[in-house]
Amino acid sequence: MPLEVIYYPHPTLRFVSKPIRRVDAELRKIADEMLDLMYQSKGVGLAANQVDLPLRMFVANPTGERGSGEEYVILNPEVSRPKGNETLDEGCLSLPGLTGEVIRPKSFRLSAFDIKGNAIDATFEGFLGRIFLHEIDHLDGTLFFDRMNEHAVVDLEAGMQELETDFRSKQGTGSMPSDEDLIARLSEWTEKYC
Ligand SMILES: [Zn+2]
Repeated sequence: MPLEVIYYPHPTLRFVSKPIRRVDAELRKIADEMLDLMYQSKGVGLAANQVDLPLRMFVANPTGERGSGEEYVILNPEVSRPKGNETLDEGCLSLPGLTGEVIRPKSFRLSAFDIKGNAIDATFEGFLGRIFLHEIDHLDGTLFFDRMNEHAVVDLEAGMQELETDFRSKQGTGSMPSDEDLIARLSEWTEKYC
């Protein structure tokens, strides 16, 4: 089945993804498909949770264009030594059309692996660092509005309510499984890769 971006309030967006213990051809193909989907969706980052996979993996390219800039596939990211803070506008493919100001560290240390198993241990900052932190939040079940101040979140509430109504009505008609069934399906993936 082709990967698709899932939307708020799909419960997988709140699932804490599990570290990946093995990489095979299928997982490499999934990473490629995530990049395809990110470019098609005009995004600069996409986390596994956003394609309904409970695995600690995300893809990114700060240019948002295939063939330009640098493409990243990051596995099992761990953040340390956050420094400073910076407020910037963010959006999210899982909450289409909604944006708001999010406070995040200016720089941080990242320990992770790429899809080939090479260790990454480096300091990130700026726009790329911001993308990474947004995607790592997804892997922890955190969404960007969780990090907005309560006054700013008020501006997003109508849009969030619309997404909520749409999602719950799909569950009501049976075209979308229940939250419980959606979460139960994730174990197939964690058993295979975690
Ligand atoms: Zn996002």
